[in-house]
Amino acid sequence: MQPDDPTKPVVVREPDALKGARPVLRGGGGREASSLPSNREFAACRLDVKSFAEDAGTLAGEEPVRLHERLMAETQGRGAEVPVRWSATGEVRNAGHVQPQIWLHLTANTVLPLTCQRCLAPVDVAVAVQRSFRFVPDEEMAAAQDDASEEDVLALSRSFDLVELVEDELLMELPLAPRHEACPAPVQLAPADPGVEARRPRENPFALLGKLKIGKS
Ligand SMILES: [Zn+2]
Repeated sequence: MQPDDPTKPVVVREPDALKGARPVLRGGGGREASSLPSNREFAACRLDVKSFAEDAGTLAGEEPVRLHERLMAETQGRGAEVPVRWSATGEVRNAGHVQPQIWLHLTANTVLPLTCQRCLAPVDVAVAVQRSFRFVPDEEMAAAQDDASEEDVLALSRSFDLVELVEDELLMELPLAPRHEACPAPVQLAPADPGVEARRPRENPFALLGKLKIGKS
């Protein structure tokens, strides 16, 4: 594995605070790997969420927008090579408890060339997400608890698609009507938006008087 390859998620292991600091291990070394259960490698697109949390694992990745079909639809094909950067950490809360909680903390960001709703030219919109998810044993539980609590609750999986979650979360952060702060080209309201005039017809004040008189008679 090449840690510098930008297309592959890089596994970075943080020292386990409870068991004393260990050297940060990157995959491939293999010398001590067999004796260290925490040297498990995790794949972002099929993540064993529970193991990841138990290991306090960390995953980070960067891939071009073109690998996210739904984001590409939002940019109308622009910005295919723009990077989407993300990182995730796993955590077990209440480890000694009967029902320890499995958590995943996610950050992600990108800059998408969306379409300005005022001038229809591309506008770069920075999108950033920072969110934590609690994982429960099954979908039914996740649906019920997600509705009932303010926390984001998901169902545990041994092959959870973290990259898809990154895309889901970024999509939810997109502005409904992206706009330039100041559009680069002057906006010509009259031809582009004839509705503005139509909604506010200018009435001749004398015509109004006429209507009033009719109303009285
Ligand atoms: Zn604009």
